[in-house]
Amino acid sequence: MFRTHNCGELRLQDAGKEVTLSGWVQAGRDFGGLTFVDLRDRYGITQVVFDSDDDAPLAERARKLGREWVIQVTGAVRERTNKNPNRPTGDVEILARELTVLNKSKVPPFTIEDESDGGDDLRMRYRYLDLRRGPLQKNIIFRSKLALAVRAYLGDQDFVEVETPNLIKSTPEGARDFVVPSRLNEGQFYALPQSPQTFKQLLMVAGYDRYFQIVKCFRDEDLRADRQPEFTQIDCEMAFVTQEDVLNTFEGLTRHVFRELKGTELGEFPRMQYDEALRRYGSDKPDLRFGMELTELNELAQGKGFKVFDEAELVVGIRVPGKADLSRKQLDALTDWVKRPQIGAKGLIYVKFNEDGSVKSSVDKFFDADALQAWGAAAGAEKGDLMLVLSGDDEKTRKQLGSLRLHVAAEYDMIPAGSFKPLWVVDFPLLEWDEEAGRFHAMHHPFTSPKREEVDRMLNGDHETMKSLKADAYDLVINGAEIGGGSVRIYDRGLQEKNFQLLGFTPEEAEEQFGFLMGAFEYGAPPHAGIAFGFDRLCAVMNGQSSIRDFIAFPKNNQGRDVMIDAPARIDAQQLSDLNLRVTTAEKRE
Ligand code: ASP
Repeated sequence: MFRTHNCGELRLQDAGKEVTLSGWVQAGRDFGGLTFVDLRDRYGITQVVFDSDDDAPLAERARKLGREWVIQVTGAVRERTNKNPNRPTGDVEILARELTVLNKSKVPPFTIEDESDGGDDLRMRYRYLDLRRGPLQKNIIFRSKLALAVRAYLGDQDFVEVETPNLIKSTPEGARDFVVPSRLNEGQFYALPQSPQTFKQLLMVAGYDRYFQIVKCFRDEDLRADRQPEFTQIDCEMAFVTQEDVLNTFEGLTRHVFRELKGTELGEFPRMQYDEALRRYGSDKPDLRFGMELTELNELAQGKGFKVFDEAELVVGIRVPGKADLSRKQLDALTDWVKRPQIGAKGLIYVKFNEDGSVKSSVDKFFDADALQAWGAAAGAEKGDLMLVLSGDDEKTRKQLGSLRLHVAAEYDMIPAGSFKPLWVVDFPLLEWDEEAGRFHAMHHPFTSPKREEVDRMLNGDHETMKSLKADAYDLVINGAEIGGGSVRIYDRGLQEKNFQLLGFTPEEAEEQFGFLMGAFEYGAPPHAGIAFGFDRLCAVMNGQSSIRDFIAFPKNNQGRDVMIDAPARIDAQQLSDLNLRVTTAEKRE
């Protein structure tokens, strides 16, 4: 028997028991005749003590133990004289009687403690060591519990978990496909699913009524900060439902998992139309944990001789509570921040509503105190507040100010820790006009239905009509992060054909790529709708963290590489020839 207990469970009431523990040596300390070892496993850390007065040879062996050696210790539990209140096992220690080294370890490349001294790259290369650390273990175990809670909840609601294939044909979720060459079908390729979208719709045609799957999705995107080329969704689809039914079901799921795993009651989720979210927050995923809503200032700020404002489509500001005391340097830093190419604003205007009642702005030349006070009144500013104002093209400027709003809140610690603000964003546009490409893009994906009352307009309307069509599409946002998105689907061949046509597919292309789905619509497809949650992101948001990587056991780095196993990698000539492939870039290099 390797152990009678784990390293996290012994308490004062176990004093006197003879126990055996197995685990890793986290740290050792020598104090004259006493050698202390912190023994760690996934359950916790228990202090083991070797006393040379009791057993000198044993204590000598203990002194030679290295970090991360795997050992087995047998001894009696006793009360510690010097208790550690920060550890659940901190009241006791094991007085060792036997020691077995189960395996030695090289000196690890970084310290395996809650705070590690290892850099990102090093920890990624030795991910199996990093995964031993408490914070990561906590994340991975949280993830497992969340998956189990999701399965239990959806199972209780009659959802059927169905696995869909990974070797498929392109699913248009807006990214590039990862492809896999087929050996048996020369010159042909599978695509890895960007999501199981078409399969879950086919399951509705097949009558499964309520489907879910916790499933890997693959998208070959340029990796922005918090993206992974393979990530996990809680993917769902339901038949004979309206948007309302889907929102209620998944609001129920979200409330359930927050209650079960966080002990948090989320209450009813507010809803906001897409247009309103952009207008009030400059974002389709507003963070509602703090205020600073956008205030339009056109009427107050235009026609006063300030050309920048007069020529702008929109003048818009936010009130930053209590920040009239920002220094010149801090304001300059904010100006530089909005001028970065990622944001793209030309400049930033500020107004300080000082505690003494005076007003100071960067546009004092054009606006007197009364005029500036009127802006303040429009935004609800009080003494001590700051206003930040941008101007320009309507949509762009709102988004820029929306980004600045988030930046300021984070920079100046204005986001209450530990709070959760969920929100349904609804009524997304169906299509997005791409001026450069001269074609529409699907705002969600090509299978999204226009609102029922819009179907006629879609089938018969002109180009301008298409731009204004609204979809039964919805996103769940929590704390400004997009947690999930879905839509009511088209289930009629004619409407689906029309949508493909608007998206620039010729009838032949649509048939070639999605003939299987449109064909299925001709065999009694029920009305259906669905949603998918980003599982990795849900884990991170529930724990108040921003990096999904910390919730994935073996993630990729920013270049899409797994530096631990060193993938992607070349394959040998025989494998290439079996697959009928020739790598031209490699030839050039050789
Ligand atoms: N397949 C969609 C996505 O991955 C979700 C859905 O519409 O159900 O975003």
